[in-house]
Amino acid sequence: MMKVNGATHIGLVRESNQDAFFYDVKDKDSAIAIVCDGMGGANGGNVASAIAVKTLKERLEESTGENGKPEYLLASVMAAANVEIYDTAQSRPELDGMGTTVVAVLIRGSVAYVSHVGDSRLYLFRDGSLQAVTRDHSVVQEMIEKGQITEEQAKTHPRKHFITRALGVSHDENGEFDTLDLQNGDRLLLCTDGLTNMADRQVVENILTDSSIEDAVPALIQAALDRGGTDNVTVVLVDIDGI
Ligand code: CA
Repeated sequence: MMKVNGATHIGLVRESNQDAFFYDVKDKDSAIAIVCDGMGGANGGNVASAIAVKTLKERLEESTGENGKPEYLLASVMAAANVEIYDTAQSRPELDGMGTTVVAVLIRGSVAYVSHVGDSRLYLFRDGSLQAVTRDHSVVQEMIEKGQITEEQAKTHPRKHFITRALGVSHDENGEFDTLDLQNGDRLLLCTDGLTNMADRQVVENILTDSSIEDAVPALIQAALDRGGTDNVTVVLVDIDGI
């Protein structure tokens, strides 16, 4: 039986938590997991991430069991969330410019269908090591790919928060799609940059190696807090079993 657990924490510095998440296990081999990190203004970020989670959750839950191709389903729900956020921002000046990252995972059978925008990430933990499934839409990711900075330097780079794609900031955004073949024993980690900029890869791997799903989620959040907790931190962990 698949298991999912998740949590969010405001961190030690921020005055509001602009992250949002949702997860649900529908049956033994069907699940949904979503993590968002909002941005823009005093309240805009909270509104954008909340709209994204609500829209994705409702539309993905409604569609479970349909035979539609997951690629088209995810693109259409991401586009719907994008328009919802964009239109809300247009109609309320105080929310102008708000947006959100998203990483959304739809598990059907032995495949994870993934869509993401921005720098919230999906990792696969298999055989004791963590592999990135998503690639950030961010300025520092582009700099890494050009060989200008290392992954370690990216974590503390002054432009580390600059993302190049987000939901809600333009008319057109429906996410980047990926698929991942699953094996029993895999762990999927969805998280915001409040985890990845704080906790070292080795620390995350150690927690995922040693801890049950119930213990791993609070341990990951604590690892981010122990290293400063300068951002909101959100994790959702999926244990693949019985697929
Ligand atoms: Ca963040």
